[in-house]
Parts: sequence; C-alpha cells; structure tokens
Amino acid sequence: MLPPDGLISLTPQGLYCRAADVWIDPWRPVSRALITHGHADHARPGCGTYWAIGAGAGILRKRLGQGIELHSLDYGEALQIGDAQVSFHSAGHVLGSAQIRLEAGGESWLVTGDFKRDADLSCAAFEPVRADVLISEATFGLPIYRWSPGAQVAAEIRTWWQSCPQRPSVLFCYAFGKAQRILAELHALGVEQEVLLHGAVAALIEPYRQQGIALVPTRPLSALSRDEPLAGRLVLAPPAAQASAWMKRLRGAQTAFASGWMAVRGARRRRGCESGFVLSDHADWPALVATARQSGARQVYVTHGQSDVLARYLREVEGIAAEPLQGGGLAERGNPDGEVGREATADDTGETGAAIPGDITIGEATAGDTTEPGAEPAEPEGAAGLINVGLINADPIHADPIHGGEPREALP
Ligand SMILES: [Zn+2]
Ligand SMILES: [Zn+2]
Repeated sequence: MLPPDGLISLTPQGLYCRAADVWIDPWRPVSRALITHGHADHARPGCGTYWAIGAGAGILRKRLGQGIELHSLDYGEALQIGDAQVSFHSAGHVLGSAQIRLEAGGESWLVTGDFKRDADLSCAAFEPVRADVLISEATFGLPIYRWSPGAQVAAEIRTWWQSCPQRPSVLFCYAFGKAQRILAELHALGVEQEVLLHGAVAALIEPYRQQGIALVPTRPLSALSRDEPLAGRLVLAPPAAQASAWMKRLRGAQTAFASGWMAVRGARRRRGCESGFVLSDHADWPALVATARQSGARQVYVTHGQSDVLARYLREVEGIAAEPLQGGGLAERGNPDGEVGREATADDTGETGAAIPGDITIGEATAGDTTEPGAEPAEPEGAAGLINVGLINADPIHADPIHGGEPREALP
C-alpha cells in the first residue's frame, strides 16, 4: 500500500497527488488528469482538464474527443501545478508516451506508466529518470520475458510475408503503437510496397505521419475495389478483427499475431494463428530491473502484471525496498499489451480473452529462456495460476495477469 501521507496516494479514482491536486491516468472521470499515453486503460474520457505530451495529442483527441481541454507538453518541460513541480519524460512505449515525475516537499516520485527501453522508430526513446520513489509497471515481469530488437522481428515479418506470394498475409497487432512500429520498421528495412490496413489501424496513421514518423505506404483495405487481388499483400489488423466478418474478404490468408505474449506457447495456441512474432511495447525483465536500479529509488511500488515477482526480486536480489501495488483500476489494467480496451474504442469489436501466463514452473522455464525469439517457455493453460520462480525460491506467487512486456538494455 502507498503511505497515506506520501506525495502520491491511491484513491478510488486512481493515483493522486495532493500537492498538485491531480490524478495520474485516473480510471474514473476526475477534474484534473495527467495522462501517460493514449491507450484506453490509461486515458479515459470525461475528465475536466488533461495534461499530456503534445506528440500524442492527435491520438488523444481522436480517442477522447476533439473538444477535450488538453495542455500539450514537451518532454522535460518543467511545470508548476499547485505546490508540485511536474515533468513528463519519454517512456519509449508508443507515440507521445511519458513517465511522469512529481516533486514537492523535498521528495520526488516517478510513475513510469507503460514503458519500454528497446529502440522503436515510431516514438521517442526511453529516458532514464531518477526519483526517490518509483511506481513501475511490470506487465512482463518474469525472467522468461526477454525481447529481440524490433528491427530483427520486422525482418522476420517481412520474410514471412514475402515468402507467401500466392496468398494474402494478415498480421494481427494492436492498432495503436504496435501497428505503426511495424510499419516504421518495415520502412527502415527498405520495404516500398503498400501495406493494407484494417480501419482501426488506418484511423491512427495520420497522427504518426503528422509527427514526421516515416512509415511504409499504406491504404485502408476498404479503399480497394472488391475485385482487386489480395495475393501477396500484407494486411495489418487489430486482434479483434480475427473472428469478425471483416476476415471474409481475406479467406485463405496466412495469419500471424505480433505481441509480447507470443513468447508464451499457450497464448499462440489460443490465438489460433499460424505464426507468432514476439514483439512488445513493454519492458522485458532485464529492462524492468535496470529501470528500478537506475532510478536510484529507495522505494519501488510495482503495478500491472507480475508485480509480486518483480517486487520480490528487487527486494531479495537488488536490495531495494519494493512491494506490489494493487487496488482498484490498477488491477483492471490487465490486458496483454494493455491494448484491449482501446481496440474496443476503434471501429471493431473489443478483444477479449487476454492470454495470460498461468502456472509457469521456473526451473524448466529458465532453459527455454535463453531463447531465440519465439522460443517457448513452459506455459500452462488457463487464467492466472501459480507461478514458481526458481530464481526467487520456490514459493507459489499469485500471478496477476495484466499487461504486456518489453525490452532490455545493457547496464553500465
Ligand atoms: Zn500502453
Ligand atoms: Zn497499459
């Protein structure tokens, strides 16, 4: 639990800073909200005033309404709100994503929001930030999660697509962030062919191009005449489209899913796709640990995902005071890669059935863990079960099936 007299406390609306009288990513409408990024489990409609990074403003207005009262900020800009100094720092998660730092009364707190440290051509790079107290996500907070570089995964995607000229290739990926990251990586690989988009993805392309993010040429699938052949074409679509009537036009296509959860065998099976590409916009295990360490924080609170496991590791191995932070909407924020809700806000049906790691037995998982991309750690069926992390002794720890995961970075 957060201390009631700390700079940030937990209220029924979410994380609250009394000194500034603001909430951070509130899950209910409040008067004043600092928003880490535009994913639906972080940016909700109905608040009085919003503060967010300007690069993501186009996305935010598309999702929350053009008429919202929004203060657009730059990364690193110093703000005085009430009695607190507030600054937003790049989280490397999606376009316009931020970590939020608050300082008052001689104490500083940092809320990571969703973050990753892997290179991503579609958004600003993660910035390490120091603070006395850190509130970190842990969507992919198990040692089995270690990501390969996005450029490498994009090259695998290109090979998968281009080696199938006789059929369309449909790649399912989250409509905000993941899809644009793939389009940017394909562009960097020199791909010049047009990529076709589901409407939910197409709707979020313009804010990226307006921010100067280079993407391959794109066109909505719906803009093609019905008799235009689709063999050999790459199509990006949100996960929710997989079981929808929209797929009729793509009958016979090869399919794949791109997500951090594709590192887990059971998740692939449940997706029912032929292929899985392990690509996440969240921090992977080494990145989570590095971020806690580099923050210099004396106290870490862990939210989302495998918060128990990471908190325990930080305490027992890193010697940092750390504990899971649960409660209210923090637990609701439990979608793999965190994008489920936001898909529902787009022009497709919502995705359900988050793929969750269940009972992972560690001793074995560490073997499958050394891992080429796409290796398959032992993974059981079913919802959150018991996780046994050998690294941390063999106590069963309740898994909190929440978000998705992310990248690593070399430590000094
Ligand atoms: Zn997110
Ligand atoms: Zn999230």
